[in-house]
Amino acid sequence: MKPLDAQWDLHPRLFAGIRKVEVSEEAEERSVDVRDDVLVLEADSLRGAIEHAGTFGLVVPACWMVHELIHQRAQTLGVKADAQRLRGTGIGGETNLLHADLGADHAAARIVALAFDRDLLEIKDAQGRSLVGFPAGRHHSVPGWFRKALRLTSLRADVVWRRLHGPELLADGYVFVDFGPAGGPIALFRSGPPFGVLHIDSLDGTSATRLHQSVSAEDPTPIEAVDDVLQSVVRRSLESGRSRAEGRR
Ligand SMILES: [Zn+2]
Repeated sequence: MKPLDAQWDLHPRLFAGIRKVEVSEEAEERSVDVRDDVLVLEADSLRGAIEHAGTFGLVVPACWMVHELIHQRAQTLGVKADAQRLRGTGIGGETNLLHADLGADHAAARIVALAFDRDLLEIKDAQGRSLVGFPAGRHHSVPGWFRKALRLTSLRADVVWRRLHGPELLADGYVFVDFGPAGGPIALFRSGPPFGVLHIDSLDGTSATRLHQSVSAEDPTPIEAVDDVLQSVVRRSLESGRSRAEGRR
């Protein structure tokens, strides 16, 4: 792992002042926290991140740790209990959490790619695949399931888009998607700034269900099948050329 301090500028306070790392066996208010000069990692959460790393090794727990640190130090989301309050703001609650996660995912992937001297695409691929280890179950609300499905699908759409289009329309941002579980329109956005539309397409019912079921604990759609659906959508965006023309405006 390379030292990061001189070359990264995504958030200047992210690692500032940290001198030691400790693992806590207690249930903590935050799964990753900075107290004085100590980075405290909650043991259960750390074990979960390591277990779901599969063949991708250390980059997955590294993405988790940086993602959580971004929640605290860059996004100031607060403690775990505050997520419940953020859900309670009305229509936007789960959507705001979704975008906090996607923003933290992207920044974490960039930092880990720099730290491990790996391609961003490789890290994003591992990050997206590792999310299947955190499926939605019966305890999730309908909006909670939607949030998880949109997060996983967005991470995969970002990888698929970068493979077919390259990164130039995204600048430092990333791709995310929105769609309904019964089919109909699917929109691919770039995060920006400025936020914008990359492509609008249609999903048949079967394809929409596949994407929506990607986070099912009992019968998940395999990642390859998720990618196939998204590849068809992104290929049609290449054919239309619409996204490229819009990017030049
Ligand atoms: Zn998060």
